[in-house]
Amino acid sequence: VQDLGPAHAGPDPLCSLNPGGGIVSHRRWAGQAMSLIVQKFGGTSVADAGRIRGAARRAVAAHRAGHQVVVVVSARGKKTDELVSLAEEITDSPSAREMDMLLSTGEQESVALMAMAVAAEGAEAISMTGAQIGIHTDSSHTQARIIDISTRRMRETLQAGRIVIAAGFQGIDDDRNITTLGRGGSDTTATALAAVLQADECQIFTDVDGVLSTDPRIVESARLLRRISYDEMLELASLGAGVMHSRSIEFAKKYRVPVRVRPAASESDGTLITVVPEDSDAGARLITGVALVRDEVRIGLVGVNGAGKSTQLKIIAGLEEATSGKVLRQGEPRIA
Ligand code: ADP
Ligand code: ASP
Ligand code: MG
Repeated sequence: VQDLGPAHAGPDPLCSLNPGGGIVSHRRWAGQAMSLIVQKFGGTSVADAGRIRGAARRAVAAHRAGHQVVVVVSARGKKTDELVSLAEEITDSPSAREMDMLLSTGEQESVALMAMAVAAEGAEAISMTGAQIGIHTDSSHTQARIIDISTRRMRETLQAGRIVIAAGFQGIDDDRNITTLGRGGSDTTATALAAVLQADECQIFTDVDGVLSTDPRIVESARLLRRISYDEMLELASLGAGVMHSRSIEFAKKYRVPVRVRPAASESDGTLITVVPEDSDAGARLITGVALVRDEVRIGLVGVNGAGKSTQLKIIAGLEEATSGKVLRQGEPRIA
């Protein structure tokens, strides 16, 4: 089991990215240069059989080019939303444990289909759930955090010349309950696997050209950013730029994993998320991007000053409980 606690010392000294964006690695197996890449395909990129085949072709092409390949997949299309709605039709208050049991099935369906598609392309693949890999999390159902990841089974599979197809978004806790990492969490599975395997690159295939200056669904003229630093991306993601799960950037930054956000539908290079932007305008630009959140409510506690600090804290604790900890508190309670 590889502990994700302390960061390893920067990038793998044997591996580097060439300036053209291709992957150069000096890792060697049986005398041959090998590199390891993680490719993650989001929901739209595996929505139907045609797109699953397209994703499988990319993985097989990377494998034939000599890379070891780990593929991480999300649930197909709107599958996770559909499962959430179904649970809501049954009860207003589903147990978080059962929600995780339910939602994790979306990714399980995807990995099986992807492994079949890779096999149909003539390469060997094996699908694995979070539990089968050994993605160990805490027990915060629906918002679990990864504690450690076992690399043994993935390494053995890769060394046997197979492609690993890993289910995104899920793990297992100490009591073998299935957990999920929060909506959008497959990105975090991808960067965390890339971190523990010391991958040369983590490629996030999605339905846009890369990271843009703002959400292209809202502003059509949003511009593609060719390079962006971990810190800039972390800020955009934590403020609501849904293109990457913000925790995934924390892993990438801590373990120095180069992340490339790319369109699944074309060959373009997308955006490289890395330590420092090399090209130039990046250092000079005043604003990198703009993010917005739609489903957020601001609650101001007004006129409770007379009730004292402990009452204010009780109100905040109640809100936190009611929202399963989704309260962002700004400022400390004050008595005027
Ligand atoms: P996936 O299913 O591949 O994980 P997501 O829907 O989670 O895809 O993320 C991609 C979406 O993120 C895009 O379709 C886009 O609408 C949205 N988005 C929000 N902000 C940005 C941004 N700054 N750059 C690119 N996409 C963004
Ligand atoms: N399927 C999960 C979701 O829709 C995880 C993901 O797509 O990253 O949130
Ligand atoms: Mg996503």
